[in-house]
Amino acid sequence: MRKLEAQPIVTIGHLTDQSERVWGFFWWGHTEHYRTFAHFLERPAAGSDLIDLECHECGEELVLRLDSLERQRRTRRRLLTTAAVGFTVTAATVALGLITDEIGKPLLLSEAPGVITLLAFLASLPVVGIAVFHWWRENGMRLHSTTGRTDPKHCRIDGTEIIRAVP
Ligand SMILES: [Zn+2]
Repeated sequence: MRKLEAQPIVTIGHLTDQSERVWGFFWWGHTEHYRTFAHFLERPAAGSDLIDLECHECGEELVLRLDSLERQRRTRRRLLTTAAVGFTVTAATVALGLITDEIGKPLLLSEAPGVITLLAFLASLPVVGIAVFHWWRENGMRLHSTTGRTDPKHCRIDGTEIIRAVP
């Protein structure tokens, strides 16, 4: 889980070069080179702030949405609650399957309760995974491009993760 910081540092990257490592039909990897710039920020007391940032490489204007600590905590709680509900549904469907099998009346896929239980189980698994993933990486920052589409040149670099600027 990302650390909650009242004065975070955001690293903005400008893509300067990229190359593919290919041998015949075999793809070995993709390499991107960035010029990076650190910006020192202060979170708002409440809600969110839109902060104008300028790329030091090309001068393009970027906008960073920075959430307050309180809003970041609320977002994390919402994601964790979603994951808990998804996990509860997963556990309940597994328990239902085991109990009905144990008492000699197994859920059958030819009947509606069996199909509903299977669908609930299959739907709850990705909900848990996606909610936990977003809860883990939530840091209350979104880099936006001003072009109205995903920016291929600019990104926010968070540890080893490269997050493109989105509209
Ligand atoms: Zn740039």
